[in-house]
Amino acid sequence: MESGNPPDDILQSVSGYAPTDNLIAPPVQNLPPAAPSAPPAPPKLPTHVNEEQARAALQHLAGENLCWGRKAADEMDMTSITPSSAFHYKLETFTESRKTKWVFVPYNFTDVDGPFNGPAPLPWNIPINPDSLFENHEKTCPVPHTENVKPCKFCSGIGSKKCLRCDAKGKIRCSPCNGSGFVDNQRCMACNGDGNQRCADCRGDGRIKCGPCSGKGQLKWFIKLTVSWQTHIGDHIIENTGLPDSLIRGAEGEVPFSDMQIMVPPVSHFPVNEINAASMSLVSQHATGFPNERIIKQRHQVRVIPVSEIQGEYKGQLCTFWVYGTNNLAYAPDYPQKCCCGCNIL
Ligand SMILES: [Zn+2]
Ligand SMILES: [Zn+2]
Ligand SMILES: [Zn+2]
Repeated sequence: MESGNPPDDILQSVSGYAPTDNLIAPPVQNLPPAAPSAPPAPPKLPTHVNEEQARAALQHLAGENLCWGRKAADEMDMTSITPSSAFHYKLETFTESRKTKWVFVPYNFTDVDGPFNGPAPLPWNIPINPDSLFENHEKTCPVPHTENVKPCKFCSGIGSKKCLRCDAKGKIRCSPCNGSGFVDNQRCMACNGDGNQRCADCRGDGRIKCGPCSGKGQLKWFIKLTVSWQTHIGDHIIENTGLPDSLIRGAEGEVPFSDMQIMVPPVSHFPVNEINAASMSLVSQHATGFPNERIIKQRHQVRVIPVSEIQGEYKGQLCTFWVYGTNNLAYAPDYPQKCCCGCNIL
């Protein structure tokens, strides 16, 4: 299948479609007002780690880093554990966009669904549904009643083109003998003395099958509709220790609030005001941020992630590290027993 500009009379046979590639903005949706979401559960603060769990997390991290010595994790003195909570708000907006373009295929003498079957439905009136929500994917289909068969414009309907390599002669001068038929006064083995060889491009025909129409001489034109679904993500993290905020995205936590609707109302009653403000801002950004896309579904959630900041000491060296998430991940950029590959601290 290739795309291109169809003959004018085809364009005139179909109304409501642009002659070239076109992304079509969706018609305005009249959505019912969003249902108020259930109030957030009082954030159940996740439990933080004790010294034993902190050590296990650090030992695990040291085990994953091949160069790190294990002894520091085994023997570190933990002088303090300071618990805190990080909050992660995430809004996902799943949208659909539609675009069309004129394409053609070789005509195989099958039935044609042309304008004589009725007017072509407008792009957003063609029923086509996503296979799953919140997963990026794409589907294509022909727009009904837009098929038209025309002689191939690349070969003028003949189905073949002159072979350029042999200039339609079907043969080319033999190169070993340079056309003489002889090499060192012996008959040329390559062309058997003829001086010419059969043209490999056209196999001696002098003509080559036309590619676009596959030799049929006719093309079937139609409009191809491409429907694309994608998820837009906006999020906000509140984390007040030295742990890099981005690590919170990959940590597990409690979910005191979640909601899914065509369009969600912003979170408004969460006990941490910064979350309400972030939700308000992201929900309004997403409401108008994708003018060429239709919103199919939105979901958002607030997660609470435990973070413990731990002060430790190993052989007089101070070390701060963090254990975060209900899955007890550790982050220890100042681990005292790091070394480059090849050294041998045990
Ligand atoms: Zn052709
Ligand atoms: Zn020869
Ligand atoms: Zn040829």
